[in-house]
Amino acid sequence: MTINLLDFDQEKLAVFFAENGEKPFRAKQLLRWIHQFGENDFSRMSDLSKVLREKLGRLAVIEPPRLIQEQLSDDGTRKWLLDVGAGQGVETVFIPEGDRGTLCVSSQVGCALECSFCSTGRQGFNRNLSVAEIIGQLWWANKALGCTPRNERVISNVVLMGMGEPLLNFDSTVTALHLMLDDNAYGLSRRRVTVSTSGIIPAMDRLREQCPVALAVSLHAPNDALRDVLVPINKKYPLRELMAACLRYVEDAPRDFITFEYVMLDGVNDTPAHARELIALVKDVPCKFNLIPFNPFPQSQYRRSPAETIRRFGAILIEAGRVVTTRKTRGDDIDAACGQLAGKVQDKTRRTINIEVAA
Ligand code: SAH
Ligand code: SF4
Repeated sequence: MTINLLDFDQEKLAVFFAENGEKPFRAKQLLRWIHQFGENDFSRMSDLSKVLREKLGRLAVIEPPRLIQEQLSDDGTRKWLLDVGAGQGVETVFIPEGDRGTLCVSSQVGCALECSFCSTGRQGFNRNLSVAEIIGQLWWANKALGCTPRNERVISNVVLMGMGEPLLNFDSTVTALHLMLDDNAYGLSRRRVTVSTSGIIPAMDRLREQCPVALAVSLHAPNDALRDVLVPINKKYPLRELMAACLRYVEDAPRDFITFEYVMLDGVNDTPAHARELIALVKDVPCKFNLIPFNPFPQSQYRRSPAETIRRFGAILIEAGRVVTTRKTRGDDIDAACGQLAGKVQDKTRRTINIEVAA
């Protein structure tokens, strides 16, 4: 199989060079070409010797996933659909907001966890994305947004909140995170890269040891009975253990906190009593709340909580001394909002993507 250098972080690239009789420092040079200049043609890497360029061309490729479609929303949100083979696609969304630009990245094709309010969950699990397919999303977005080391950085934050559960694709996610943080690649600070998880406890502990980026935990319910229904993985990793894992995640870094995501579902999890129960649940955990108005999709059985209900719910948390943000829904017109990223991928049994619309 051909080696794809987009699958390698600096450490793996250095091993690759050493194995092929080249100096490991070449790894940094190559990373800059690939990730900062968006170059995937060895022959244009002008500060590498011609002999080395030709050798690399024989040994390896730099192959991002193929871009199928790019969409621009009225509010500036952009969405890219990338081909990941076998008629399937994954989506990446860029959300500009003042001086910040956040890229929302997918980690799997579909998701195995079947949260009842999530369209990715509905679609079922297909497969993990490779490192090249995860970092390839950043590679494409960076290129499309015209970023080079000489220009200002447009993508200031990355969130792994697209399709899939990143902590169930652990190794590829961590290698991609290394590239996001590497000064020779995307150079983001660890607090500006956020992994969102439904609460895979053992993997949260491993992430803390291997690459402690910011962590968002999809809570969505203040008690096990309700969370078992909304986020079924709760039956395996219930709230008491999840809170302990959250505490472990931040305990060595006093400035760190967990972001608890809470999708607002009308009449399901949005009453003042739920808010009070939530305060009691998280009492020991340094945390902030991010309330997410539910985004409907075809055949979803839930409704979005009214704005006033969300405001009241947030006010109770604020009164208890917590920081609360309410996520603005962006990119509605191009189906780019949270939980809508199933795009053209069809149901569990067919799981195919309609490439015709995209071509
Ligand atoms: N699997 C990970 C990350 C991807 S989902 C996780 O669950 O955390 C990113 C966020 O979008 C999660 O908080 C998820 O609960 C939320 N989400 C999923 N479907 C949604 C919907 N229909 N409306 C609003 N938020 C949704
Ligand atoms: Fe998977 Fe996250 Fe959707 Fe749950 S919310 S089904 S974990 S992508």
